[in-house]
Amino acid sequence: MIIDETIKKDIEELSGQKLSDCYQCGECTAGCPTAFAMEPVPSQSIRLLQLGKYSELLESAGIWLCAACNVCGERCPRGVDYGKIADACRTIVLRNKVTHITLEKVDKKFILDAPQQAFIAAFRKFTT
Ligand code: SF4
Ligand code: SF4
Repeated sequence: MIIDETIKKDIEELSGQKLSDCYQCGECTAGCPTAFAMEPVPSQSIRLLQLGKYSELLESAGIWLCAACNVCGERCPRGVDYGKIADACRTIVLRNKVTHITLEKVDKKFILDAPQQAFIAAFRKFTT
């Protein structure tokens, strides 16, 4: 995957968010229901992008754990919606034909037990 300065423009265009608006107060991370497992957490993720460390975020597991619940966007005093930024990052990764999961790696019991809608939704989110 080619990662350069144009990525910042792509992320801002796809998400509709301005990365420099974030002043690192941490309100988004404090309210995020998946932050306990997310690495990096929302505020750290934005900081990585502000510092130009794009590959560190795009190659992280954190962007895939965002549940798009919009709590971070609601809490942000600067109107920054990290959920949309994470979504933009996932889109960029998938557009580069990097698939997050493959069917072979999914537990067979999970395939049998999971609700079909959840399964299909997950594959829409995680695969190209
Ligand atoms: S709540 Fe907003 S300003 Fe605060 S760290 Fe999160 S994105 Fe940045
Ligand atoms: S939209 Fe994603 S990052 Fe934001 S609070 Fe929800 S799960 Fe966390």
